[in-house]
Amino acid sequence: MGLVTYVNGAFVPKDEAKISVYDHGYLYGDGVFEGIRAYDGRIFRLDAHLDRLYESAQYVMLEIPLTKKAFAEAILETVRRTGLKDAYIRPVVSRGVGDLGLDPRKCSTPTVVIIVDTIQLYPKEAYARGLRTVTATTRKIRPDALAPQAKTLNYLNNILARLEANRAGVDEALMLSSEGYVCECSADNIFLVRRNEVWTPPPHLGILKGITRDTVMELVRSLGIQMLEQVFTLHDVYTADECFLTGTGAEVGAVVEVDSRRIAEGIPGEVTQRLLRAFRELVAVQGTPIYTPATAERGR
Ligand code: PMP
Repeated sequence: MGLVTYVNGAFVPKDEAKISVYDHGYLYGDGVFEGIRAYDGRIFRLDAHLDRLYESAQYVMLEIPLTKKAFAEAILETVRRTGLKDAYIRPVVSRGVGDLGLDPRKCSTPTVVIIVDTIQLYPKEAYARGLRTVTATTRKIRPDALAPQAKTLNYLNNILARLEANRAGVDEALMLSSEGYVCECSADNIFLVRRNEVWTPPPHLGILKGITRDTVMELVRSLGIQMLEQVFTLHDVYTADECFLTGTGAEVGAVVEVDSRRIAEGIPGEVTQRLLRAFRELVAVQGTPIYTPATAERGR
């Protein structure tokens, strides 16, 4: 079985999955997307990802031509057809095919794509030694210009930050708000451990409200550690006991260096490692089963 992609209701082999160059997702980044993960035959927090997808679409006034339930079923069916048990799933809904003007009224039907593949965001050894980051000079887009809480196809701001990380030869870029407060990384949320408290920036600062972020906040509390949504600056990062980032692709990754400064001892911290273990345990047991007895029977 090869990789299968869903394109507007059809299941096609990866290499045959195509959309029009007139699609406004391609021409203008007019659309929304999600990044979801399956672990050992279960999709982690599928409903939360779908809620965010539909919320992002509502923000850009894009009506997804499927109910949430039908979308969930389309995702499950696409994964089943690939035969993967561990997968990275990328639903993308764009405004659809239009003309060369940006007016969405010219796009009659949204394009719905579901890509199923695998992902390795950072090299394995980067997790063992801890990730190295720099603060990007590129600031986050102000929430009143384009809400970073919406996961839209406009990722150029994050890509500019990522290019800065690449040029500095490090793993990730830390991004600040226009006022200079720490927001998130180019594709992950950020957390600090400071004197037995865990801090992460609040969503109103202009971040994506990560689903891994929510999960990790729950895990912190379940470990009996104080969890605070807190506005903070680079001062607090440089002087933190531990720093880590979270994301569907990244999971929980220790950050051991920011702007050529070591964070504490410069090795993955104890709380971070406990959280990574707790996260791995959770994803192994929680999630929407992909292969129910009925679908397994059908596959025979
Ligand atoms: N921030 C940004 C900018 C992201 O693109 C992502 C998703 N990769 C995250 C944070 C993490 O969100 P999640 O945990 O839902 O993957």
